[in-house]
Amino acid sequence: MKFASVIVSVSSKEVNRIFEYKIPDPLIGIIKIGHRVLVPFGPRNIQGYVVNIKDSVDFDASKIRPINRALDIEPVLTRELIMLAKHLADYYIDPYISVIETILPAALKSQSEKVLTLHSDASKEAADFFKASHSGGKVLTKKLDAEALKGIKPFIDSGDIIEETELKQHTNKKYARALKPTFQPGRDFGRAVKQLELLDYLENHEYIELSRLHEDGYSSHTINELVKKGYAEKIDVVIERDPYENRVFFEDKPKILNQDQDYAFGRIQDAMDRSDPKTFLLHGITGSGKTEVYLQAIKAVLDKGQEAIMLVPEIALTPQMVNRFKSRFGDEVAVLHSGLSHGEKYDEWRKIKEGRARVSVGARSSIFAPFENVGIIIVDEEHETTYKQTDRPMYHAVEVAKYRSSFHKCPLILGTATPSLETYARSDKSVYERLELNMRAASNTLPDTRIVDMAKEHRTGNTSVISSALKEAIQDRIDRGEQTVLLLNRRGYANFQICQSCGDVPNCPNCDISLTYHKSNHTLLCHYCGYEEEVKRECAACGSDDVTFRGTGTEKIEEILRDMFQVDVVRMDNDTTRRKGMHEKLLNRFEKEEVPILLGTQMIAKGLDYPKVTLVGVLNADTMLNLPDFRANEKTFQLLTQVAGRAGRHELSGEVIFQTYNSEHYAITLSESNDYQAFYEKEMEFRRFARYSPFYFHVLFTVSSEDVRKCLEAAAHVHEKLTAAVSDTAIIVGPSPSPIERINNQHRFQILLKYKREPDLSAVLHELDEFYYERYKKEGLSLRIDVDPQYI
Ligand code: ADP
Ligand code: ZN
Ligand code: ZN
Repeated sequence: MKFASVIVSVSSKEVNRIFEYKIPDPLIGIIKIGHRVLVPFGPRNIQGYVVNIKDSVDFDASKIRPINRALDIEPVLTRELIMLAKHLADYYIDPYISVIETILPAALKSQSEKVLTLHSDASKEAADFFKASHSGGKVLTKKLDAEALKGIKPFIDSGDIIEETELKQHTNKKYARALKPTFQPGRDFGRAVKQLELLDYLENHEYIELSRLHEDGYSSHTINELVKKGYAEKIDVVIERDPYENRVFFEDKPKILNQDQDYAFGRIQDAMDRSDPKTFLLHGITGSGKTEVYLQAIKAVLDKGQEAIMLVPEIALTPQMVNRFKSRFGDEVAVLHSGLSHGEKYDEWRKIKEGRARVSVGARSSIFAPFENVGIIIVDEEHETTYKQTDRPMYHAVEVAKYRSSFHKCPLILGTATPSLETYARSDKSVYERLELNMRAASNTLPDTRIVDMAKEHRTGNTSVISSALKEAIQDRIDRGEQTVLLLNRRGYANFQICQSCGDVPNCPNCDISLTYHKSNHTLLCHYCGYEEEVKRECAACGSDDVTFRGTGTEKIEEILRDMFQVDVVRMDNDTTRRKGMHEKLLNRFEKEEVPILLGTQMIAKGLDYPKVTLVGVLNADTMLNLPDFRANEKTFQLLTQVAGRAGRHELSGEVIFQTYNSEHYAITLSESNDYQAFYEKEMEFRRFARYSPFYFHVLFTVSSEDVRKCLEAAAHVHEKLTAAVSDTAIIVGPSPSPIERINNQHRFQILLKYKREPDLSAVLHELDEFYYERYKKEGLSLRIDVDPQYI
């Protein structure tokens, strides 16, 4: 007899353990480690993942229930990914299942239902069989021998309706007949016109995607009724979609590497040849040719018959990167990012799984690309906070990359112009090997950068948000037919509304934060919970009609720019790019040089490489500096350096202007002089003094509840538990209110644990997590544990 250890797909702490099932005889040898299976669980059948197979169990084998069936022909998880899931579940204090289902594409999560298909008469028998195979798989495994099962499995996998003749070969006639429903449209539909209409619609299609049915006005109720009555059925159909299908990629030829690039490439290649799982920091200024090094290293990996994983912060923002990869490696490239539908992601995942693509380019979750022979892992812009997931499991992609690099014995490259302090500190101690690219590859120099002191500007009479220096520089570019990129890290029109008579500022009723004014739809909007209200003429507090708006967002700047220069402006922020494909559409207009100015929030700071861009302006360099976060300086330095790097990347030389009220602050002045080393040293002093990362590790605990007293009581309890558990070299800060104390009517209090080394930390974290999981269920009080948090 054979038994399988299965992690079941139930997102609950009580079942955060492994369950044992018997493998039915016909499935022995077919079900492997990593298989997705359907298993009985209580009264239901649910999906699970086989993480081990063994010959015996420690308890009465006759009590063990059998697996119903396998859900795929091949296992979906490799042994590596199973071990990795375990590691992440332990490290980030999460249920095993939630990590497993993060590793896999969402389409595989539980039996996803993407399409609706008809039980037509011609294929009714097949459809019946199909239904049997989906719901009564137990019977199926009993009545079929292993050979027959093999024939049917592809059918189950693809969801195709198989021909009647084929069906006879594989299934038991009697069983299929017994299940055949008796259709009586008269009785079944009564006055259900909409259902009949849907039936008619379906008759002309092989299948229709559920999402399209919703768009066409068929409710879930209508669809489900039809399914319940046995006239239609939801199934998975594999449709290959290529989101880049109709795109023309302009050619990008390999360059002859310059001396710095060549040295870096040589060191990386040497590690690859020795199967050395070492980590490199590729520290290169913007435009120094880091990407060219990645491309050539990947080429070498492919030539050796291996695979490559390339992570970028957010692909939708960097279409040029995709272009370069597609142009060099063609169909070998799978692209994974958040802008794809579940189905599209699944297609890309399958390309990798089936060996049709050997290069994966994608955002955070593509670090789980199911390759089995990885030759290199590259994380571009390693300092970006998007590499840490903010929902559970709160994993960091670089942590995962390190695990995979050591499993595959391949090098890991962390590339950036502005390393995170943690990474640079490790390179300083030679934990990582640092490779430097100090010259721009395609142009002679870095742009000329200067700081404009806005306080002074106001004193000398210019009250506009655009300084006279910036105004002149923009006008220059327009006159010369060149382009300008402007950064303002704040969307909306005005920041807030204020009553000039009593000073009242309308706040969100659910959060402790003021509402932002959006002019296009004349509303006040909460950027935290989405609360929206119409703007009123009178102050809600005192009734005065002397209300005005303060502060400036991108929407307003767009208006000002159009007015000031009489030109067209492309604006990119969360409001203009919400719809799918809008990023690209807007960037295309700018790329074609139809528009002289691109204005946007930080989404424009990365990756853009346009030859005509010779001016970059930062309208308010201080927005990030004022965040209540110990990394505020670091983030300011990084953002300014990144966006400045968009200027003068080709023949034309560039100019950069930072507008600020903190013209002496080192995060701004050292970015102006492009002096990373000096910034690093200065910032490290602060971190050492304030005892923050990289000198200490952090865990952030946040309790939240509608009831503020419960919050405080829980925070005290967590504090007490931690105090008892950690050594006295650890530091516990708080409890204190979170920077925004209330969001969405939930009060939030936090405790920060800082430590250098704590051998038993994981035990107390798991214990706290479980304790508060119970309380969450009973009384809505929750504890969030963030290991290595990005924001504190
Ligand atoms: P980074 O990734 O460091 O920002 P890129 O790899 O994008 O830099 O290079 C910046 C520009 O320089 C690109 O237009 C690229 O094609 C070009 N480039 C890179 N390496 C070379 C080289 N060795 N010779 C000529 N041009 C190069
Ligand atoms: Zn008022
Ligand atoms: Zn709100």
